[in-house]
Amino acid sequence: MKPSIKKLHNYFELEASRGFDNRAIMGGLERMLGPWEAEARGDALDEDLIQAVVSRIRDYPRLSVSSRREMLEGLWRRVQRQEGSPTINFGQHAPDQVTKKKIETKKTAKEASPEKISSDAILSTIEESAEEIKTEQPGTSDIDADGEERRKATEAVPTEPVALDASVQILPGIGPSYAKTLNHIGIFTLRDMLYYFPRRYDDYSLLKPINRLEAGEELTVIGTIQRVTSRKLQSGKTQLVEALLNDGTGTLRINWFNQRWVARRLHKDAQIVASGKVDRYLGRLVMNNPEWEFLDKKQITTNRIVPVYPLTAKLTQRRLRKIMNQVVSYWALRVNDPLPEQLRQSAGVVDLSRALSQIHFPDTWEDLKAARYRLAFDEILLMQLGVLGQKRAWQQRTARRFIVDDAWMERQLARLPYSLTQAQQRAIEDMRYDLASGHPMNRLLQGDVGSGKTVVAAFAVGMVVKNGAQAAFMAPTGILAEQHYRNLIELLATGEDKVLDASQIRLLVGATPEAEKREIREALVEGSIKLLIGTHAVIEDPIKFTNLQLVVVDEQHRFGVRQRAALRAKGNNPHLIVMTATPIPRSLALTIYGDLDISVMDEMPSGRKMVKTYLVMPRELERAYSLIRSEVSKGRQAFIVYPLVEESETSQAKAAVEQYEYLQNEIFPSLRLGLLHGRMTADDKEKVMAGLRDGVFDILISTTVIEVGLDLPNASVILIEGANRFGLAQLHQLRGRVGRGTHESYCLLVPEKPDDADNERLKAMVETNDGFVLAERDLEQRGPGEFLGTRQAGFAELKMADLADVRLIENAREHAKILFEIDPNLSQPQLRHLASAMQYFWDNGKGDIS
Ligand code: ADP
Ligand code: MG
Repeated sequence: MKPSIKKLHNYFELEASRGFDNRAIMGGLERMLGPWEAEARGDALDEDLIQAVVSRIRDYPRLSVSSRREMLEGLWRRVQRQEGSPTINFGQHAPDQVTKKKIETKKTAKEASPEKISSDAILSTIEESAEEIKTEQPGTSDIDADGEERRKATEAVPTEPVALDASVQILPGIGPSYAKTLNHIGIFTLRDMLYYFPRRYDDYSLLKPINRLEAGEELTVIGTIQRVTSRKLQSGKTQLVEALLNDGTGTLRINWFNQRWVARRLHKDAQIVASGKVDRYLGRLVMNNPEWEFLDKKQITTNRIVPVYPLTAKLTQRRLRKIMNQVVSYWALRVNDPLPEQLRQSAGVVDLSRALSQIHFPDTWEDLKAARYRLAFDEILLMQLGVLGQKRAWQQRTARRFIVDDAWMERQLARLPYSLTQAQQRAIEDMRYDLASGHPMNRLLQGDVGSGKTVVAAFAVGMVVKNGAQAAFMAPTGILAEQHYRNLIELLATGEDKVLDASQIRLLVGATPEAEKREIREALVEGSIKLLIGTHAVIEDPIKFTNLQLVVVDEQHRFGVRQRAALRAKGNNPHLIVMTATPIPRSLALTIYGDLDISVMDEMPSGRKMVKTYLVMPRELERAYSLIRSEVSKGRQAFIVYPLVEESETSQAKAAVEQYEYLQNEIFPSLRLGLLHGRMTADDKEKVMAGLRDGVFDILISTTVIEVGLDLPNASVILIEGANRFGLAQLHQLRGRVGRGTHESYCLLVPEKPDDADNERLKAMVETNDGFVLAERDLEQRGPGEFLGTRQAGFAELKMADLADVRLIENAREHAKILFEIDPNLSQPQLRHLASAMQYFWDNGKGDIS
């Protein structure tokens, strides 16, 4: 197999084995394109094949899982035909499953918003106009009032009933088969069409005479065809259409590969507009596969800024653009703007019709920016309104009060082996206040790794169970649950003045034997268990509590707005604490956790030493190994972490085993090494972790499965291989596995290559131990999609909003708050389009952060 084909084979196979999650390559499959294209040329692959691979893979991230599968499969069949390569198992086809497409979050224009929002102004204008409608048109229905309003606003546009939810099939020229193709990219209705945004734009508004062209430019030329020919290339596989275009200043050669139809339509003396990139071939300038059309037509795709849409098999840019133009020019004018005029003015956003027209066919880059800003604004606004609604609904409920006196607090504090940090004390007071308020607590406890969140939650648990009620404590994995179990027994059920007996605290994880699970379930109903610790299963049926009053959720990124809502619906309005070490920048936290109150712990327990962090080049590895040996000789333990590389999980496990054997035999023959990787059963993993805890191992070799939150005070070194492959936030989490005791600790970052540009990025790790600072940098560098990772993939539903754009978020939040104060149910007539937009947004899972 040629190397480039072999690579493709590996990538595709890995993607298939991962269920087409586009993570076979860090940052997405399309990252490979640049290097691959070069390599493929080196291998003398058929140019057509190269182009096919490049153009399809570029759209890969935007496709649904089923389309991804189809696309890779199709591409690979083609590779096989041409190169006789081996088969790949792409797995079973889900029967015609159409998944709604997710579009990657786009960068938003950093549009200036009005310096200061006057809430009074909006408040009064909205109220006034509400008044107006009420007084002037008593008894008129909303529809009439709306018709009136719209006629005034957009005179020329007939006010037809908006049928945006009609199928795309009502469009002329779209039959069932093309509709099906559109379904594959998530387009079912006209509305979907309007909201199917371009992934990028090409500026073809730049016209140039042919004699002034330069290689590398992307632009438009207009001229007359002097000659068209069509022939097969030597390879016999490629059909080349060649044309000579003359504009009076010079002649340009144009090539179309495998687009034979071009030859049928073009003819000598035809005047055309061609837009594309100018290349140099054998010393002459050429344009390959340009967009083109006859000159006399309305210039949709050329001679302007043109949209480039994400595509799928069977869709061409040209056709989609044409339909889009048809849809946009008619329907964009007919959408109901959810934002009343006053609100738009105050927020500094353009109206929705304009935004939708300009997002597809922008007149200028400025217009595009404004369109993006408006659409992003809507997303955040809707999200915020939903979240605020949740928060209000929750606050309006009553919950059982739990009151503890100062004497109790004193006694509990005295039981601790250390004194609490100020931040811990503040967080505990926040919770104490919430628990006594008579309303359900709804609190996010955010604190960097090692800041001591567990003990804070333990206090809240203590306050609740002391009064006879039950609490549940959930962790993402069994290992962590077990660690919490031990800690909480220590914190709550040992020594003088203990709050519970050890027998009142139980652990329920996947590995718990069925008989014991049954017994636990009964004891929960009967009420003899006061604290149940476990994985997510804890709140799932058929587990029933008799008197559940507090739920603590630890390190749970997947626990989004919707899950929280579900949890609140369960039980008797339990109090809720969500804990996270992911240091989310404030703007992001407000968006994701807007329904929660936040306690931030920005202080480390005293005596904690900063983890000394070094960049270690691959050739210096031996020095790193010596450090590990010397730490182990002092009785400490170490982690060695390997990143996920472009291999299947099986071969990755194999690589981990090989590494383990190599390190055990060659590097650390006299030390005891443990191994942890993704292919091990939960049981085996737990055993290894227990071994580590009990000091059976000196060094743990691991892929990234070592748990967030794992607390091993005796570990003092972590060596991370391939460190350049990790994001800063993730490295920080890994680093947090050491330095949890009082020993001097080390984090050694080994990049793959000494001269990697990424190494610059890694220096931030050396410079600071502050998770928040690193998170901000990470967010800046990689954008919110990467930063939050697939775990919060729901954010991909925000097509436009850039969660790093603080000004946009603040602007939208500010207005959401004002609206919410004026009219939380959006019941005023001029807010009814907003109300239905809300409905649509949440019904379609757009706001689902999980
Ligand atoms: P995280 O916030 O990462 O969940 P943990 O709750 O696991 O942190 O605490 C990390 C370690 O710090 C634990 O070993 C815990 O006993 C210890 N610890 C917590 N609070 C303090 C404190 N105030 N002083 C000293 N050690 C503390
Ligand atoms: Mg923790």
